[in-house]
Amino acid sequence: MSEKIALREVGMRDGLQSIATVMPTETKIAWLDAEYAAGVRYVEVSSFVPPKLLPQLADAEAVIAHAMTLKGLHVSALIPNSRGAERGIALGVPEMNYVLSVSNGHNLSNVRRPTAESIEDFRRVVQLCHSGDKPARINCGLATSFGCTIEGDVDEDRVRRIASEIAAAGADGIILADTVGYGQPAAIERVFRKVIADVAPLPVAAHFHDTRGLGLANVLAAYNAGCREFDASLGGLGGCPYAPGATGNIVMEDTAFLFEAMGCETGIDLDRLVEVRAVVARALPEVALHGAIAKAGLPRNFHPVAQAAE
Ligand code: ZN
Repeated sequence: MSEKIALREVGMRDGLQSIATVMPTETKIAWLDAEYAAGVRYVEVSSFVPPKLLPQLADAEAVIAHAMTLKGLHVSALIPNSRGAERGIALGVPEMNYVLSVSNGHNLSNVRRPTAESIEDFRRVVQLCHSGDKPARINCGLATSFGCTIEGDVDEDRVRRIASEIAAAGADGIILADTVGYGQPAAIERVFRKVIADVAPLPVAAHFHDTRGLGLANVLAAYNAGCREFDASLGGLGGCPYAPGATGNIVMEDTAFLFEAMGCETGIDLDRLVEVRAVVARALPEVALHGAIAKAGLPRNFHPVAQAAE
């Protein structure tokens, strides 16, 4: 039995929110359908932020409602606060990802309150998501877990302490995020090992950006520490708001190739996944798409672990 890896597409949220162009709703749906057809089964579809702040994601309800019609697709949405959770619950979204920053300075600049207040808010969000007749799973992303553009280094013990508080608050999963691409493999492996042991059996996922070229090395480090869930975006869509022109999330196609080449099962058909890039390229001609597999192609006689299962 090969090991199963969950790769979650976050380009429709993390990618599109950093691009000024507003992608039409029908293009987002076409993109989603094409990735689903390529075997992708985990998608963070959008974010319940006020449309005033992020007009790119103003159609969150429409795109998520469509995503929820696709059989076997694990649909999730980002929420910045309890108001976002209420929108998700109203729509019946099965899984939500709350985000707070480990770095106090980053949290203040992002959501204008200290991290401790966000942890308090998260406790209320867990109650909201877990009550009612259709409870939703609620994960918490810990942004800036491996460094911060405002504070620089982030204390590893602080990451562990906050992860444990989030677990105690009733989270269904934790996502350790290298929001600004400061992480390096040794630190990634060390922190993942510790946090996975601290919060077991809670799943700990990885959200990495390739800002400084260490994205896939960091993926392997987290994998070696026991992580089996990874965020990525098609073509590495999504920049870094603090570094104009910088590469964005780790590339979905290359991450899927990494795991398939190592004999892990992603369920993704790599050729079909690479073809999806055309949908995004047509809609966003001014945006650079990254990725080595799209440029070089798969190795001769490359055998995927399993073809996309329905
Ligand atoms: Zn991100």
